[in-house]
Amino acid sequence: MALKYFSTRDKEKKKITSAEAILQGLAPDGGLYVPERIPRLHKSFEQLAKMSYKQVAYEVMSLFFQDYTEEELRYCINSAYNEDNFDTDSMASLVQAGDAYFLELYHGRTIAFKDMALSILPYLMTTAAQKCGIKEEIVILTATSGDTGKAALAGFAGTPGTRIAVYYPKGGVSRIQELQMLTQEGDNTCVVGVKGNFDDTQTDVKRMFSDENLKARLAGRGFRFSSANSINIGRLIPQVVYYVYAYTRLMPKEINFVVPTGNFGNILAAHYAAMMGVPVHKLICASNDNKVLYDFFETGIYDRNREFKLTESPSMDILISSNLERFIYELAGDKTAALMDSLKKEGKYTVEKDKVSIFTGGFANESKMRDTIAAYYKRDGYVMDTHTGVAAAVYDEYRAKTGDDTTTVIVSTASPFKFARSVMKAIAPEYREEDDFGLIDRLSELSDMKVPKAVTSIKNAKIRHDTVVERDGMQGALEKFLGLLL
Ligand SMILES: *Cc1c(COP(=O)(O)O)cnc(C)c1O
Repeated sequence: MALKYFSTRDKEKKKITSAEAILQGLAPDGGLYVPERIPRLHKSFEQLAKMSYKQVAYEVMSLFFQDYTEEELRYCINSAYNEDNFDTDSMASLVQAGDAYFLELYHGRTIAFKDMALSILPYLMTTAAQKCGIKEEIVILTATSGDTGKAALAGFAGTPGTRIAVYYPKGGVSRIQELQMLTQEGDNTCVVGVKGNFDDTQTDVKRMFSDENLKARLAGRGFRFSSANSINIGRLIPQVVYYVYAYTRLMPKEINFVVPTGNFGNILAAHYAAMMGVPVHKLICASNDNKVLYDFFETGIYDRNREFKLTESPSMDILISSNLERFIYELAGDKTAALMDSLKKEGKYTVEKDKVSIFTGGFANESKMRDTIAAYYKRDGYVMDTHTGVAAAVYDEYRAKTGDDTTTVIVSTASPFKFARSVMKAIAPEYREEDDFGLIDRLSELSDMKVPKAVTSIKNAKIRHDTVVERDGMQGALEKFLGLLL
């Protein structure tokens, strides 16, 4: 029997296939789909160590997506992980600097780790639509804190049978991130700035998703919703691959992963890799000033009632970490729906603290992040982006405090060029008067890295999207895009 999925909020545990879960994105009850069990790796680490990224991807994904045929899955993997989409043969590079290895996951088309999953999701989804006999056009609805939006646009642009609408918090993303989205080509794409923060944006996207009235109207026009956010199991599982891959390149007795965390998707994938058999000692969850997860791992209390802070690691400026629900389900089972209700109504919930032991949390404020980027640059000549800077700062402090010298991989989630202004502020503040593209050239000189195509290509590109709305205008923008408004 193929591995099935059910919603974290469904006490009856109604089971569906992975293809159905990928098509739906979010469950109708507002919960997230989880596999009925986490499969163990079939192949030995020695065997996996000899495999390429694509081969490891097949080994991992075939265990989770058992209703896909080998031919279907290999087609998806080959279409995503190739030299058109990535600028390194291995897809993910491991670079040693300081006391750790950096797992660079930003060698895809939009230079953030979101490409690792969003390059394959459109293939998984259109294959799922065929398998399930879906005739409607799929409308991808996505809230982004900056990087998901562009990676999803790049993945779905021009994909037959799909349209994609991306909402981002106006003023809450870097200029390069914004330009990447606003210059997106493709008639099936729509980008909307929202006057609100990421949590507001994500909450309203989730609401539209669950709006039965809207869904019925869409169905009448031959559309159905799906999601490219990390709530989609088709986003999460491809992320498990690089943890298995990284471990099998190094093969230590045990390994730590440090993950700069926002929605808890990336680090949850590491947890799944651990449950598959990767010998993980600690998963170190790194937060910026929005340290709701750090507090959760310290106390067992998740409390979003606090000031939302805009930082220079905007993809981690999140107080409601959606994917944590999948982990909460492991701890609380059928009580999950009640806890999530409490999060919605009171903004908080509590679980028993001793259950969260494989995870440990840390956080770094802006100046610590900047000092860390500068220190690695000066000492090792290694330049990292601000999100990775938060993770490196958290790791350095963790190591000094605990003396834990387990082999450690810091997950590097974005190219420094994507956050050039903030990175340059850390390593060469004297250039602060220059514009963004000037700073990018300076960064290239100082780091001895070529400016990625993702950046050069937006420099003179035409702005194709300019819609900005209040929160209550989000649905209207969608209806206009889909031609529902007469
Ligand atoms: C999305 C993102 C994160 C956070 O990842 P989650 O899966 O949401 O925890 C961290 N860094 C960068 C650069 C990102 O784009």
